Amino acid sequence: MDKTDEQCPGNSPATFRERKQTNETNTEMEERFRVLVENTPDAFIIHCEGRIVNINPAGLKLLGIKDPAGVLGKSALEFVHPGDRAEVSQRISDAMRTGSPAPTIEERFILPDGTTIFVQVTGIPILLHDKPAMQVIIRDISEQKRIEKELLLHQKEQSLIINALPVIFYKVAPIGLLPTVWISDQVYQLTGYTPSDFISDPLFWENKLHPEDKEKTVRKLNSVLFSDTVSLEYRFMCADGTWHWFEDRLVVVRDQHGNPVDSAGLWLDITNRKKTEVDLMESESKYRLLAEYSHDVIWIMNPEQRFSFVSPSVEKLRGFTACEAMQQTMAEIMTPESYQRALDRLKRISEQIRLGEKPDDPVPLELEQYRKDGSTIWTESIAIPHLDGSGNIIQFIGVTRDISERRQVRQELIHAGMRFRGLIEHAPDAVVMVDTLGKFLYASPPAFKMFGYREDEFDSLSPDALTHPDDLPEVLSVLQKLMTDPSMVPTIQYRFRHKSGEWRWIESTFSNLLDVEGIGGIVINFRDITQRKQDETELISARNKAEESDRLKSAFLANMSHEIRTPMNAIVGFSEMLTDPDISSEEKIKYTQIIKNRSGDLMHIINDLLEISRLESGMMKAIHAPLDLNILLDEIYMEFSRKIQDKKPHLSLSIEKALPTTSAVIVSDGHILRQVYSNLLDNAVKYTIQGGIHFGYTLTENSFITCFVKDTGIGISEENQQIIFQHFRRAEFEGQQQYSGTGLGLSICKGSIEILGGSISVESEPGQGSIFRFTIPCKTPPNGLQVVSAGRKPQPVKTHYNWTGKNILLVEDEEANMDFLKIIFNKTGANLFPAFNAGMVRDFYTTLDKFDLVLMDVRLPDASGWDLTAEIRLKKPDLPIIAQTAYAMASDRQRCEEAGCSDFISKPIRKELLLQMVSKYFDL
Ligand code: ADP
Repeated sequence: MDKTDEQCPGNSPATFRERKQTNETNTEMEERFRVLVENTPDAFIIHCEGRIVNINPAGLKLLGIKDPAGVLGKSALEFVHPGDRAEVSQRISDAMRTGSPAPTIEERFILPDGTTIFVQVTGIPILLHDKPAMQVIIRDISEQKRIEKELLLHQKEQSLIINALPVIFYKVAPIGLLPTVWISDQVYQLTGYTPSDFISDPLFWENKLHPEDKEKTVRKLNSVLFSDTVSLEYRFMCADGTWHWFEDRLVVVRDQHGNPVDSAGLWLDITNRKKTEVDLMESESKYRLLAEYSHDVIWIMNPEQRFSFVSPSVEKLRGFTACEAMQQTMAEIMTPESYQRALDRLKRISEQIRLGEKPDDPVPLELEQYRKDGSTIWTESIAIPHLDGSGNIIQFIGVTRDISERRQVRQELIHAGMRFRGLIEHAPDAVVMVDTLGKFLYASPPAFKMFGYREDEFDSLSPDALTHPDDLPEVLSVLQKLMTDPSMVPTIQYRFRHKSGEWRWIESTFSNLLDVEGIGGIVINFRDITQRKQDETELISARNKAEESDRLKSAFLANMSHEIRTPMNAIVGFSEMLTDPDISSEEKIKYTQIIKNRSGDLMHIINDLLEISRLESGMMKAIHAPLDLNILLDEIYMEFSRKIQDKKPHLSLSIEKALPTTSAVIVSDGHILRQVYSNLLDNAVKYTIQGGIHFGYTLTENSFITCFVKDTGIGISEENQQIIFQHFRRAEFEGQQQYSGTGLGLSICKGSIEILGGSISVESEPGQGSIFRFTIPCKTPPNGLQVVSAGRKPQPVKTHYNWTGKNILLVEDEEANMDFLKIIFNKTGANLFPAFNAGMVRDFYTTLDKFDLVLMDVRLPDASGWDLTAEIRLKKPDLPIIAQTAYAMASDRQRCEEAGCSDFISKPIRKELLLQMVSKYFDL
């Protein structure tokens, strides 16, 4: 390179001039060329022996190099794009060889900074210092190339667009039949025909027109020759035989004389649009039909509240025809209050739309509208805004319907609701509602009353805390089941605490109404059943008692049967044996004694039964009289000494008398006292195996006497102590069967003592013995009152009576009893006059004087002995009359006394007793 530089030292165009312009001075030439080359916008390079030897400023600029040293000495081919290098190299050598300029070509240069530019290159061979060289003129054509490329792209795009559009462009010759001279390729895609189909046959297009549209279309098309533009719509048969709708616009271009010279046509397939239009028309007519036949009123109103459509149904709703209704403004058709609400709603919708917000979902408004007859009707209206393309409201479309009936039903429901509320609030049953956590949501007024709370207190109450802990698990379990099965309606009874702290029984029915609109809770209906529960408890106890008494009755009957049959068995058996002629007199005495003893037992039972029935019926009365308690006790002692001696001689018997003999007189019923002591002592003897019996009385402070009978017997358990004073009840224990008894003794004692104004109790321990105590009032008699015998005062026993000459009237309806009396008295020598009825008695009235005594049976078939006694008394007041009665009770004596009897003897009559009694009147 250096060598080359040395060989080509000058880069001035003056060397070039030397060869061409020999007549000019070198300096002038050089200067002229230098200025030209340095200021030309084209790049100049001189290439000699394969290297650049000169380059002008425009050349440096083109290559993007500032210093010429970066270029000089290099081969120009270095800057040529490798793809173009071969061709450029060939052209240079051709030009050098022929000496003629190389034709201008376009090639690519790669600049030192790596960019590729397009250049236009012209090469002119020259001689430089006698050496062949090449002067190269280079022009940057990159920008031109870019524009060309873009243009090309643009053209491609255009044709693509044209072909992509569903549009056909065409040209017709603006003459005659307007034959098609050009038509875009798109025609094939849209119609299935090729452009040549149209161009080759001037009638091709016309022949494919729909027969209905043909004439009109051709006529209109031809008018374009006069009117410049024409717009057509017609059906055209496509290659596949289908009819397509096309919109066709044709423009004719005229010259300055107005003659048509050119045309441009545009063909659009509008089949889809046409179909939509038809559909739209169909649906519009459908909706119009709907609107016209709908019961609801459909309306369209502009934002200025003027109606553009009101469906005919308005007439039915408001009495105005659709035309009349359309003339009205919104303010005119409804009451001011409703209008205000409607207006507010429309304003709100408009505001939301103005702000670009989504309008609220349409909610019907209840509006009261005027009818033509001046009345009003309740309606429900809904309005939906209809917007234009810019989002402005162009109209409101609405529907209005009659809701008068619905409102009426609702009113009725409200009234019904009020009625039901009234019912709930005044019903005897209470209603509460709780949530799923068991908190009170509602309580009806009866609920407050039932539990004593005020309404404001109820809210803070917890049902769980007020439910009885024993019942809470059941209540919670019911609630649990109710949650899983809402169809259940369980009823349970449980205790709930009253504000006073008292537990009240309630019966509750639970209903799960959590999902019921308007309720949403668990509803509990309940009523206070405390009283019912009490009644039930009492009823159950009464039933138990009844069952118990039933059981006892059966036990009693079985026992009674045993108690009666046992002595009866002996009586009947030994009586029969007495009839045996072969028995000895000792046997006879023995049998008779057995019969007598067993009869006594039987009598005891019968007396007890009679006594208890008299107590039960309230017929037993106490007959108070002064009596000497010590004497009474002594008599009892003597009686029981004998009994113990007979039955249990190993037992001891002792007596305790608290009062001194001088002042032991009290006022009481001696018969009752004797009976009670006897019963208690009988039991003491019966239930004591060993040890002894102690009885008597003590004085108590509160002017009562406490009588007692104490034994060392088998004792009575605590449990049995509770029942032994009840009728027919006997202690229940193993081995009770071995002790005979009716279970009546103690209940007679209790009843009798109560009649005396006292009470009876027992203190006992099984195996240790018992002590029975009874109290009686300690009343002392007023002075002067005589002490009467407390019953069977033992008389000196006489075995022989002589009443010869005495006349005794025997009144007795039973023949056997009469015979018995006759046997008794026959031995006394008295004269006996039997009378079997009242009639016979009355027959003796005329001769009453001769009689010394009457033995009167109080029950006769034709009258009572009391009446006859009274009659006799009137006639002969001092005649002794002894009543004989089967009623062996103490009160019978009183009755006898009232009737005027002198004395009375109870059946079965004991011979000695009767004779002793009569003796009182005959032997004094
Ligand atoms: P009963 O005819 O059975 O003796 P009571 O009415 O006199 O009837 O007595 C009821 C029951 O009381 C008796 O069956 C007996 O079990 C018990 N009882 C009464 N007195 C005594 C006593 N002194 N010792 C033990 N048990 C007695």
